[in-house]
Amino acid sequence: MDCIFCAIVEGSIPGDMVYEDDDVVAFKDINPKAPVHVLIVPRRHVRSVNELTEEDAGLIGHICLVARRLAHELGVAQSGYRIVSNNGPDGGQEVDHLHVHLLGGRQMRALG
Ligand code: 5GP
Ligand code: ZN
Repeated sequence: MDCIFCAIVEGSIPGDMVYEDDDVVAFKDINPKAPVHVLIVPRRHVRSVNELTEEDAGLIGHICLVARRLAHELGVAQSGYRIVSNNGPDGGQEVDHLHVHLLGGRQMRALG
């Protein structure tokens, strides 16, 4: 399987890592849309939210807590930030390995 995020998780292509643990990694987006733009990615290949099961409830909760931690460490906890996961074609998903964007450091526009 040809998956760019699996390759970053495995270290076969470089990622600008900001966090790693047994279950997830986080690295800077290569094309940042905000001063802080980090991708939080499960080590296990899961294509999208569609493929999640009840057993993944802890993983998703963990990703949210990693986002909280990184928001503090990257200095946007007080100013505010957005966490978003794009799923499928209409969701704008470009990389088919589940990931959560953490965006901050500028005012986000309303969703529309
Ligand atoms: P999506 O549109 O799937 O939610 O977001 C994919 C994100 O991955 C995009 O913001 C894109 O800039 C980022 N991205 C794509 N390829 C790479 C890569 O090789 N390295 C890094 N760090 N980010 C990538
Ligand atoms: Zn993958």
